[in-house]
Amino acid sequence: MSWKVSVEATAFNSSQFPLSGVPEIAVAGRSNVGKSTLVNAILGSKLAHVGGTPGKTRSVNFYLVDTGTISFRLVDLPGYGYAKSGKAERKAWSQLTSSYVENRASLVLVCHLVDFRHGLLANDRALQDWLSERRRPFMVLFTKADKISKGKRRSLLNQYVKDGLGSIDVPIVTSGEDRSGIDEARAFIENFIIKL
Ligand code: GDP
Repeated sequence: MSWKVSVEATAFNSSQFPLSGVPEIAVAGRSNVGKSTLVNAILGSKLAHVGGTPGKTRSVNFYLVDTGTISFRLVDLPGYGYAKSGKAERKAWSQLTSSYVENRASLVLVCHLVDFRHGLLANDRALQDWLSERRRPFMVLFTKADKISKGKRRSLLNQYVKDGLGSIDVPIVTSGEDRSGIDEARAFIENFIIKL
C-alpha cells in the first residue's frame, strides 16, 4: 500500500525541530552511503535530495508518514565521515545530531545505513558506540546491495552478522537501484511502530 508522505520541517538547528508527539525513526549513515536514495525508496517519493555535495553539512529533515494504519516521522540526519570535511563542519554535524539524538523524546529507533560492500568502518562503529552509550536502539540497513552479485549476498550478510553488528534485528539488505529489500524495510518500520 502506498504511504502518504509530506515534508514537515527542514531544520538547521534544534529550534527548527517540529514539536514532538509522533514516534520518530531516524536514518543515519556515512556521507554518500545512499541515504537519500534509500529514504526516497522507502517513502515512495522523491523528496530527499540525491547526490548532493558530499560532506556538506545538511539539515535534519522531518518527513511525516501516514501508512494508512499508523503515522510516524522518518527523520533524515546529516551524513557523517566525509574525508574532506573540516573541523568546523564536523562540529556542526555533531552539534545538530547530538541535539536531536540526545534530547528527542519521540525518537524510538535509528536506522543505521551501512554500505554492503564495506561493512562497518571505524566511523560507523564510533556512531554505534555513541548510540549505545545513549541507549538508543539501532537497526542496520545495508545499502547498494546491487553492487554485490545476488548469489554472494547471503554469505556476506552471514559474515557481517557473525562479526557483530549491534543491530536490534537481522539487518535488511537493500538497494535503491534494483529495489531489493525495500518492501521488507517498509514492513519492518511499520511493524516496529505498530508494536510500540
Ligand atoms: P547520501 O549522500 O548518503 O544521501 O547518498 P545518495 O543517495 O545521494 O547517493 C550517493 C551516490 O550513490 C549517488 O551517486 C547514487 O546514485 C548512488 N547510489 C545510491 N544508492 C545506490 C544503490 O542502491 N546502488 C547503487 N549502485 N548506487 C547507489
